[in-house]
Amino acid sequence: MRVHNFNAGPAVLPEEVLKEVQLNLLDYKGNGLSVMEMSHRSVEYGEIIEGAKAAIKRIMGLGDDYEALFLHGGASTQFLMIPLNFCPDDKVANYINTGAWATKALKEAKKIGKQMHVVASSEDKDFTYIPKIWHLSENSAYLHITTNNTIRGTEWKIDPDVPADVPLIADMSSNFLSRPLNFKKYSLIYGGAQKNIGPAGVAFAVIRKSLMEKQNSGLPTMLDYNTHIDKGSMFNTPPAFSIYVVGEVLKWIEKNGGLEARAKYNEEKANYIYNIFDSSEFYRGTVEVEDRSYMNVPFRLPSEDLEKKFIAEAKAKGMIGLKGHRSVGGCRASIYNSLPMKAVQDLAQFMLDFEKANK
Ligand SMILES: *Cc1c(COP(=O)(O)O)cnc(C)c1O
Repeated sequence: MRVHNFNAGPAVLPEEVLKEVQLNLLDYKGNGLSVMEMSHRSVEYGEIIEGAKAAIKRIMGLGDDYEALFLHGGASTQFLMIPLNFCPDDKVANYINTGAWATKALKEAKKIGKQMHVVASSEDKDFTYIPKIWHLSENSAYLHITTNNTIRGTEWKIDPDVPADVPLIADMSSNFLSRPLNFKKYSLIYGGAQKNIGPAGVAFAVIRKSLMEKQNSGLPTMLDYNTHIDKGSMFNTPPAFSIYVVGEVLKWIEKNGGLEARAKYNEEKANYIYNIFDSSEFYRGTVEVEDRSYMNVPFRLPSEDLEKKFIAEAKAKGMIGLKGHRSVGGCRASIYNSLPMKAVQDLAQFMLDFEKANK
């Protein structure tokens, strides 16, 4: 029996997709071999990767002025590729620090660029909110934000405005394709696939082609976005199987109504849990109400002992992954795109039952 999977990442995938992958595991669509065993230069694989790239842009409503890439090295390698490619020494890169991942992006950037500037931060209140005002430095190379803060459970509800000559760059690892955004405002969107759109082992980047005009020169080949644009994400062997599964998840998103439908579904899911916070003294949400994430829902119980008991009893009932990140403690339910409504309904019922039994 499959459990209700609230893991933060790698995370739940649609059962329909897993079954499709299983069906084609030994013999992909009559080709007599698995996708894992195929040449990445074959016609069949070409269709898989090109199909996935096209689907990402179609779902996002983006056209030929953007390029979709699949890359190695996770979101974490993007942390360094961004300043390396797009922050020249005479410009200032702007970062909004909204949590652990944003901090990591900034830390990495400081090793690469000469001038890194934190324009706003919510560290003063333990990253429990999204800053609402900031002033970009003059001579900005770009503004970098993290649209969903996986560990703390805050999410940007707006796409921030930037001056026309300042590229907006976003780590969307943990809320990518969970709802429609004004994607055209962004010059570069990236993340690891393993939260919302697939298995681990591949990162995505969606890049506005005109951003390349601002690129630094003389970069190491693998860390140069242009290499991957030029070679269609096939400069070297891509993480072929992971990209294939991402492609199947993208088909699933499109088949089920695209981003509008996902947004509605995800909001309904999140509200099962947020409604409990709002009506209970027992469960306490840990972030500002207006900045609550639809993807990661951290919460506390009245004591750490009760939290331990809650996590253990939930696990015994087939609900796993509810332990908060080790850096913050407490509980966290990650309720990504592919998590079915039933999982959240069962969790909400369990929360109510647990409260009654332990109040
Ligand atoms: C998980 C996560 C990352 C790290 O992704 P990797 O692919 O493991 O490098 C970066 N940013 C955010 C917001 C994340 O949630």
